[in-house]
Amino acid sequence: MSTATSMMTGVVLPGNSTVAFKDCLIPEPGAGQVLVRMKASSICGSDIRAIYREHLGEGPECYQGVIAGHEPCGQIVEVGPGCKLFQAGDRVVIYHIAGCGACDECKHGYMISCRSSHRAAYGWQRDGGHAPYLLAEESTCIRLPESLSYIDGALCACGFGTAYEALRRMQVSGQDRLLITGLGPVGLAAAMLGRALGVSSIIGTDLSAHRLSLAIDLELVDLAVEASDGALEKILQYSGGHGCEASIDCSGAAPARLLALQGTRAWGRCAYVGEGGTVSFEVSKYLIHKQIMLYGSWVTSLRHLEELVERLDRWKLHPEGICTHRLPLSDAGKAYELAAGGQSGKVCIVLED
Ligand SMILES: [Zn+2]
Ligand SMILES: [Zn+2]
Repeated sequence: MSTATSMMTGVVLPGNSTVAFKDCLIPEPGAGQVLVRMKASSICGSDIRAIYREHLGEGPECYQGVIAGHEPCGQIVEVGPGCKLFQAGDRVVIYHIAGCGACDECKHGYMISCRSSHRAAYGWQRDGGHAPYLLAEESTCIRLPESLSYIDGALCACGFGTAYEALRRMQVSGQDRLLITGLGPVGLAAAMLGRALGVSSIIGTDLSAHRLSLAIDLELVDLAVEASDGALEKILQYSGGHGCEASIDCSGAAPARLLALQGTRAWGRCAYVGEGGTVSFEVSKYLIHKQIMLYGSWVTSLRHLEELVERLDRWKLHPEGICTHRLPLSDAGKAYELAAGGQSGKVCIVLED
């Protein structure tokens, strides 16, 4: 196909909770690059926190005015010279960071942690998925199994990948109860994947009554607890006075981070994936004396994202189940408003042919 002289309209995020549209040329794939027709491009909490509301502007979170969207999924329409694996027609999820490819982190597939000046994340430092076409490095493409929808794929690109990585690192299994603080899209993802990994019971907490009932309606948590003063008591009561063997904070809020630690059983594991903010706690009382392993976990690796989509296919599991709002690109303003409202499940921009 020839798209070289055609124009397209993409979404940029100027800050101050606004959305704008920008016209640009449909790019031509260079060496090792592919042109992807976007089908689904979901909104991540980081888009809201670090770009939509205000440009936080530090290091890998420095937004450079590019087309937004770092959860892209679509179909390859054109490949550049030297591509080795993919061809036109292939359905792909895009791991949302193109690293330098040469450093230790990149060699391990953790392009998220690449510190090179060559590192660029889609939707942050290079054009992302909120447009009809995306120019991607072939090395960041992961084949989407036939059984998964484009929305399934988009949700894996950051959110489900992030939840999967943390659960994987804690080696969550059927031996565990799982406590999830924050039932936004990443929390819901952790619940869905925790179930698939065999977790025996799941407790979820959130401030939003709407999100608590969504988690119950989707049958993703066994107990939904309002994140108020009595929350810890309810968690302990439900877990035989012990707390949960594994816990994950997906909120980034200080009280929820503390609650995740407090609700972790002695010798258990706790992971922090919710971004931003701070936390302070009595280290001896909540961490050392309880012999707890505390993990920080940031996104996932290329390999683990590939493993995730393979397992979703095997488990016949669809991340799309947590998507509560699907909107066309022209309604991107509404989509961001919904996502920023903190009351919804996942919000996804869908692009028709
Ligand atoms: Zn690198
Ligand atoms: Zn993200």
